[in-house]
Amino acid sequence: PAFLSLSSVGKIYPNGYKAVVDLDIDVPQGQMLGLLGPSGCGKTTTLRMIAGLVPNTAGHIRVGGQDVSREPPHRRDMGLVFQSYALFPHMTVAENVAFGLEMRGISRRDARDQIEEALEMVRLPGLGSRKPRELSGGQQQRVSLARALVIRPRILLLDEPLSNLDAKLRDEMRVEIREIQKRLKITTLFVTHDQVEALTMCDLVGVMHGGKLAQLGSPEDIYERP
Ligand code: ADP
Ligand code: ADP
Repeated sequence: PAFLSLSSVGKIYPNGYKAVVDLDIDVPQGQMLGLLGPSGCGKTTTLRMIAGLVPNTAGHIRVGGQDVSREPPHRRDMGLVFQSYALFPHMTVAENVAFGLEMRGISRRDARDQIEEALEMVRLPGLGSRKPRELSGGQQQRVSLARALVIRPRILLLDEPLSNLDAKLRDEMRVEIREIQKRLKITTLFVTHDQVEALTMCDLVGVMHGGKLAQLGSPEDIYERP
């Protein structure tokens, strides 16, 4: 059964533009779905609707059978990672990672172990007192991943997380993200325009085109009928 389920989901922006049309997607518990497609096809809009950052204007978004379509973002239990890292520059790494925990009423003191555990998971142990600008791009994206994971989200949403990294780092982090995702068995949506990324990292691949789902299948299926 699907853990994350989109049924007939649509998005019409206030200017009338239909960015997503009648989208059906099911992601089983613990699996990673790659959402692939050219720029402008509606991938980010889909991710933002799942996160609750923009409202869906049609259909239902369900997590574990419960409709979350009208829930605000912080009630959806989702971890987000963006292409641009989106870290707070004036806060330390630990404060950045703690941010989501504090929003949930957990004090930084109580959260100290959880923060260090999250930093270890992304291979940044002991860097909690640094500022983001003192880290490389790859390290900053690891902090962003730690911040997403520290709340133990039910769903992980990754929006082109590797696109700002150089090729070598990108290869490394592909493997690392996939390892973490499998170890935590966390249901994940991975938005990318990189075919190799989707096909090598994901259990399922959805190909979007013009706001619609053109194909959905295993990487092997998608490879055979490109
Ligand atoms: P992708 O992530 O696949 O590049 P997006 O979901 O960002 O695509 O955008 C899908 C389409 O919706 C694009 O044509 C984009 O210009 C349009 N769009 C995105 N945001 C808005 C908005 N706030 N208002 C109107 N149109 C938008
Ligand atoms: P990206 O491709 O990095 O996601 P976009 O250029 O699609 O960035 O969008 C940048 C911002 O502009 C987003 O907040 C998006 O919602 C908004 N946007 C994109 N296209 C339109 C549009 N046609 N009309 C209004 N806002 C838009």
